[in-house]
Amino acid sequence: MRIISCTAVLFFFLIITAVSPAETTLNGAEPVVLAHPEQVGIGQPFLVRLTSDHAFDRILIHWMGKAFVPSLSHWNGHYVTIAMLGTDVLTIKPGSQKLLIRAWAGGKETVLHRSVQIIGRTYPCQELSLPSKMVTPPAVELERIKAERARTRKAKETWSDHRLWRLPFHRPVAGQFTSVYGLQRVLNGKPKDPHRGVDFRAPLGAPVEAVADGRVILAESHYYAGNSIYIDHGNGVISLYFHLSDFDVSLGDRVKRGQTIGRSGCTGRATGPHLHLSISVQGQLVDPVPLFEKTSDQLLR
Ligand SMILES: [Zn+2]
Repeated sequence: MRIISCTAVLFFFLIITAVSPAETTLNGAEPVVLAHPEQVGIGQPFLVRLTSDHAFDRILIHWMGKAFVPSLSHWNGHYVTIAMLGTDVLTIKPGSQKLLIRAWAGGKETVLHRSVQIIGRTYPCQELSLPSKMVTPPAVELERIKAERARTRKAKETWSDHRLWRLPFHRPVAGQFTSVYGLQRVLNGKPKDPHRGVDFRAPLGAPVEAVADGRVILAESHYYAGNSIYIDHGNGVISLYFHLSDFDVSLGDRVKRGQTIGRSGCTGRATGPHLHLSISVQGQLVDPVPLFEKTSDQLLR
């Protein structure tokens, strides 16, 4: 009896190992194919893709303590769902992060447990000297800064059901990157939070264009970021544009990929005209660069 059960276990093991770990079956019939990278660098965005020949009723993705329901689409005879995930250089440590996906189809549920290995990477360090009031704000500004922080936190948590983004993102200005994501900054001798976006070279007044279709969820002036625009691209992906000299859009406006939304400048804490861009993915500020340079397929592996 013991031999039979061991043989059964071995047989079961062989069947399991013969199937790609990225594939599973739904209702024991049609395969649900789940693709995602097994490891990503700290702060790097990535994609998760579920494909099936069956229509999904609903998909729920759990990542970094949050759960969300991504858009479902039907393409080329397949049912496909793509979601963007990532981690934030400010808060994440190297190690394994759980990815849990629950998919419902035909009234039945499939549960997929995966893990993504977050790999450490070294980011450069930069020392800057700024007027002391911009590093240590005067007491009179603290209430304003606190209120702005609450508003921007809420904006980054915006969720809308319809996915409007596609890859690669449109470059918001023509200029090159002048400062990388993850840069460790020391301002006037004091270590500060890492740079959670990228800076583009941009002269004063250059048109700044939306990276993807979306809706303006914030357009106002902030103490540190200066004139700021936040655009919601759906399914938890939001782009942030800082230090603008002027606005070409207003709160609530619908914008198209490549549409001019404002003008570059040096409002707020900036040493000269440039565009700072951040991308929030499910509330995590990720490295924007791969979203301009990589295809969807490259962000799945
Ligand atoms: Zn910046």
